[in-house]
Amino acid sequence: MRQLPHWIDGKARDAADGGWLEVFDPATGKPFAQVADGTAQDVEAAVAAAEAALPAWSALPDTERARWLEKLAQALEDRLDDFAHAESKDGGKPLKLAREVEIPRAISNLRFFAHAATQFASESHHGQAGLNYTLRRPLGVVGTISPWNLPLYLFTWKIAPALAAGNTVVAKPSEITPQTATMLGELAAQIGFPNGVLNIVHGLGPKVGEAIVGHPRIKALSFTGSTAVGKRIAGVAAPMLKKVSLELGGKNPTLVFADSAWQEHLDTIVRSAFQNSGQICLCGSRILVERGIYARFRDALVERALALKVGDPIDSDVRLGPLVSQAHFDKVIAAIARARSEGGNVLCGGNALDRPGWFVQPTVIDGLGPDCATNLDEIFGPVVTLQPFDDDAQALALANAGEYGLAASIWTRDLNRAHRFASEIRAGIVWINTWLMRDLRTPFGGMGQSGLGREGGLEAMRFFTEPKNVGIALA
Ligand code: NAD
Repeated sequence: MRQLPHWIDGKARDAADGGWLEVFDPATGKPFAQVADGTAQDVEAAVAAAEAALPAWSALPDTERARWLEKLAQALEDRLDDFAHAESKDGGKPLKLAREVEIPRAISNLRFFAHAATQFASESHHGQAGLNYTLRRPLGVVGTISPWNLPLYLFTWKIAPALAAGNTVVAKPSEITPQTATMLGELAAQIGFPNGVLNIVHGLGPKVGEAIVGHPRIKALSFTGSTAVGKRIAGVAAPMLKKVSLELGGKNPTLVFADSAWQEHLDTIVRSAFQNSGQICLCGSRILVERGIYARFRDALVERALALKVGDPIDSDVRLGPLVSQAHFDKVIAAIARARSEGGNVLCGGNALDRPGWFVQPTVIDGLGPDCATNLDEIFGPVVTLQPFDDDAQALALANAGEYGLAASIWTRDLNRAHRFASEIRAGIVWINTWLMRDLRTPFGGMGQSGLGREGGLEAMRFFTEPKNVGIALA
């Protein structure tokens, strides 16, 4: 069985106490690898390595750090296929999705931030009394904690800006999908990436994650994961006045108006509901449909959902692989049972596949009001609800129901309405007649229970640096 060690100070290391955790293949439900079961002692070793590497790394010219990130991106691109296979095996995601979308995006993250660093100019103000300018200094050693749903995509989304800005990093990937981060650590060592700059410590959240969050010499923490864990992290970080960025859960509305070209857009709407088996924080899991087209839209959606092939992620025509773990599978199956007990009509799906592994059919539910748990809680699986609305006011009220505020998509031909909703919907990201259109320069993140702070572009560079204002008299 393959063993996945930490990467600390440019070297592979077992956990300090020699412990291992099992890593499961979601398509079979069987373990296929082991990952280091890290401890606080491992975090301590990673922090020491990151501190030792900090002076030289932060003193490098931006262009040199950019060159290293470029080199890592190139090495990753050269091994794209291996990484895509590993990502698919770890998380059960369709190989096609890993190969065509997620690993390419991890490469883009490294390339984008390599260059963002060189373009991150300081502001200056020339006044009568003198000149004011703002330096942006790296924070020091920073921590990143990432989830299992987009493993390398989100891992690189954090480490790239942190490193580009001159910090050194202690990074914890999810213990459920640790393979590609380990491979990236190995790749970094192979290309001679300076030791100690990127340290990867594996393990469980309460043990390794909290040791990172609570470490007094880790200056900031960038987290993506569930709202419950985000709150716990905020609680540990607050008394230390530690800077945190929290990208959390969502329960995103998709608003379909009668005047939209919804038939033409159905492919994208279906993708927004079920991509990666609904295990993307941006998936549209509450579909709100104008009453005039409700019945036709519902029938068309159900027809498409029934046609989605669920199965072995390695198959090129499979659209939904398994859910990531037994625990997550149990949670999604329980959410479907709860929807039934709340009075929901399960229009299609609603069951597990009768085969090994953690497969759930794409599920569409209607007949539930906005205040039930099914429409309020994140399910994070291939489960969407449909709700009709009669007018714009009701559509907006339904869209803004609940405590999350991550993303929304609006489908309409009415330009005024589209922009009015974009401004009034409580969400950090709004798409009009599209879904998951990302430009890495733009801010990314949510409001309310969906998070604190923004990532992407200059927002990420700002998070990973400390501004320092300097005033100089000209006289
Ligand atoms: P999770 O919160 O269970 O785990 C995320 C990471 O935190 C893992 O690495 C885990 O080991 C670690 N962790 C767990 N407990 C911890 C603790 N007490 N202290 C420190 N670290 C701890 O989330 P998950 O199940 O891996 O991911 C799914 C969730 O992530 C969903 O809620 C989803 O919406 C959210 N998500 C949000 C975004 C976004 O950008 N807003 C993107 C992807 C996923």
